[in-house]
Amino acid sequence: MTRIATCSCQSLRAEVSGDPIRVTACHCDQCQRRTGSVFGVGAYYKKEQVQISGPNSVYVRGAPEGRTVSSHFCPECGTSLFWEADIAPGVIGVAVGGFVDPDFSPPTISFFESYKHPWVAFGRGLEHFLQRPGYPLWAKPKLPGIES
Ligand SMILES: [Zn+2]
Ligand SMILES: [Zn+2]
Repeated sequence: MTRIATCSCQSLRAEVSGDPIRVTACHCDQCQRRTGSVFGVGAYYKKEQVQISGPNSVYVRGAPEGRTVSSHFCPECGTSLFWEADIAPGVIGVAVGGFVDPDFSPPTISFFESYKHPWVAFGRGLEHFLQRPGYPLWAKPKLPGIES
């Protein structure tokens, strides 16, 4: 099955095939500022599952331990549609809002809850982390809470 996420003006598109590796909600300061909302929801895919088309600009930001995250946004309308982290080569995060699909898989992890607005609550079970999970988001969990 393929799905298409687009920016506001729909010139930047991410067509994905198959299911995401993982869907996450992130409340961190960077996701709040990137989205302009109070948390971000991202679907992570292997690079070969994602086809990008349309013009995009890149904003590279620093991340802990000297890492970087590259956010790709539409130069026309400014929507931040997908991102790549140097720590996870071969994986692309796609903004779930870009699909405008209420049936999209819900997040199974909520992280950086130390930044969470107190009124935000999810009406379903998911794993909660004050910071980040102890396993990579693009990998299957080993034991939750165990540093990998
Ligand atoms: Zn656009
Ligand atoms: Zn975040």
